[in-house]
Amino acid sequence: AETKLLKSGWLLDLSKLTLGAAIGEGEFGAVFEGEYGGQRVAIKNIKSDVTAQDFLEETSVMTNLRHKNLVQLLGVILHNGLYIITELMTKGNLVNFLRSRGRLAVSATQLLRLALDVCEGMEHLESKKLLHRDLAGRNILVSEDSVAKVSDFGLAVAKVSSTTPDNLKLPVKWTAPEALKTRSLRYDVNVMRILLVQVKIKVQQPYNAFDSREVKQIIEERRRNDARSNCPEIIYTQARCYRRQNAEQRNPNRWMQDRLETEKAQNISL
Ligand code: ADP
Repeated sequence: AETKLLKSGWLLDLSKLTLGAAIGEGEFGAVFEGEYGGQRVAIKNIKSDVTAQDFLEETSVMTNLRHKNLVQLLGVILHNGLYIITELMTKGNLVNFLRSRGRLAVSATQLLRLALDVCEGMEHLESKKLLHRDLAGRNILVSEDSVAKVSDFGLAVAKVSSTTPDNLKLPVKWTAPEALKTRSLRYDVNVMRILLVQVKIKVQQPYNAFDSREVKQIIEERRRNDARSNCPEIIYTQARCYRRQNAEQRNPNRWMQDRLETEKAQNISL
């Protein structure tokens, strides 16, 4: 398996790696910052019995992706389990980024830019016929120059099947109505909508006051998470376009792109 990895070009050299401080906590352990051959990187150490082969199978998704709005994999090191090395996103995840700055410090234009970044990353995944399946604010990271990128493709799958396995855990509060019922796999776009709602209401959890069972009921009865206060009109309207019951009508990107172009052309400040 190691030879295969070497051939693939994703095997990096331990001697070029400097491990720095812990910057986050992931499902499999801490995430560190550090340097690899002079470049600042993030390092995820996975201690379980993953073999190089497992890695290649599971992250083959990541090795095939390159886009300005997807966190870039740099490679792996087989040491102490497995080190996964990615580009360093110095401003952390989107939830913390927005919370720590507060609404006034982040302009509506900037919010929109961040949301559009995510749309573009997701659109690229879509173009590769991939579903992320774990899109959420904590999996969107912000770079030094404030570009948002989607990360964490651990759960990503090729869109080969139209049904989800029964044992798949769904993030209920973020899941599209039809996915709750028919277990259709097409729900990344709905997550995108919820994300925009979160962004507009200063990153509260959606359906804050309800548990998952109640949320299912609310969604099925088509009552909505309609917190409109404090919301720039432009984001509210976009979020509304994602909530169409018909999945095919949830256009993730075009509306926002058009709108941004118009803003630019007319030089309107939001
Ligand atoms: P897991 O998938 O195991 O939950 P994550 O990839 O979500 O782990 O990482 C957990 C946290 O670590 C993130 O929310 C983020 O704050 C930080 N983090 C992860 N990757 C990076 C990175 N490339 N640059 C900066 N911070 C990161």
